[in-house]
Amino acid sequence: MENNRQPYPILLAEDDPISRRLFEKTLTKEGFQVTTVENGRKALELFRQQFFPIVLTDWQMPEMEGPDLCQAIRKENPSRYVYIVMLTSKGSKDDIISGLGAGADDYVTKPAHHAELVARLKTGIRILELEKSLKDAVDEIHLMSITDPLTGIYNRGYINQRLPQEINRSIRYHRELSLVMCDIDHFKTVNDTYGHMSGDIVLKGFVKSLTGSIRQQVDWAGRYGGEEFLVVLPETGLEGAMVLAERIRKTVETTPIQTSGDAIQITASFGVTGFSAADWKHAMSPELILQMVDSLLYEAKDEGRNRIKSRPLLFADQ
Ligand code: GH3
Ligand code: MG
Ligand code: MG
Ligand code: MG
Repeated sequence: MENNRQPYPILLAEDDPISRRLFEKTLTKEGFQVTTVENGRKALELFRQQFFPIVLTDWQMPEMEGPDLCQAIRKENPSRYVYIVMLTSKGSKDDIISGLGAGADDYVTKPAHHAELVARLKTGIRILELEKSLKDAVDEIHLMSITDPLTGIYNRGYINQRLPQEINRSIRYHRELSLVMCDIDHFKTVNDTYGHMSGDIVLKGFVKSLTGSIRQQVDWAGRYGGEEFLVVLPETGLEGAMVLAERIRKTVETTPIQTSGDAIQITASFGVTGFSAADWKHAMSPELILQMVDSLLYEAKDEGRNRIKSRPLLFADQ
């Protein structure tokens, strides 16, 4: 099949056994991967278990007719588009309008001219491929919009959007939540000594140490500012967050970052704050938590850098 590496799966619903076999033979010969069923109900059951990008359905069938099947498939609202072609011996304009109204994309009148049917299915494939490339482009644009281009981790915009959700979730389920804010020590000196390009490599190396230290599916990290990063640890109390911060601190301290010239050794400072489930009876805002973790980070800087300062969030009434 043109433009197509793998055979296109197609679900064929047709109650007449002779037509069914004929369609199956023709479409298989054309390179489609055909699955046949004898009525609309069976087609819908199968569709719910397995996605088919193309559905070719007869109009009149026992148990569930073609238009009802169309409507049911549209109601399922799968994440990818389904191209539906209806086979009909009903030639009137009203019937065709009602078939298209039920959600069919196209129709072929019976007795079907096989070359025409195949040509119409290929039109469907062009639409499906267009839809896929649009969806891929949208996904890529979305990923770019939440990613820091230099380091590949989440950007500030994503932090702003996800942190409030993370806090709300922890409140709702009475879960612990901790935050680690870290900042590379004397990074300006790195740039001044080795150049901005080496500085960029150091940033990437730092992020590698950071992301290598966190739980991949649960924890997440983002670039908060130039050389300042936030790590969010759901289901983790202050003590667990401190263990993690220490792991990152140690890794950073002992992992020289190889640039095109020198291997550069850096350190980083950390602010850590965490909340037990009991704390959640208090109002909590992302700004408050960020302020807390940021001021802890600056305490760590003041006390000599390459260290961690931690404290649970204190409330006005505590
Ligand atoms: P401190 O230990 O107090 O954090 O000192 P510092 O030098 O790390 O902090 P300062 O805020 O003075 O300098 C941060 C530097 O980070 C300045 C800025 O040019 C640099 N920077 C920010 N973003 C980037 C980047 O994307 N690439 C490079 N190479 N440098 C960056
Ligand atoms: Mg029929
Ligand atoms: Mg710094
Ligand atoms: Mg900084």
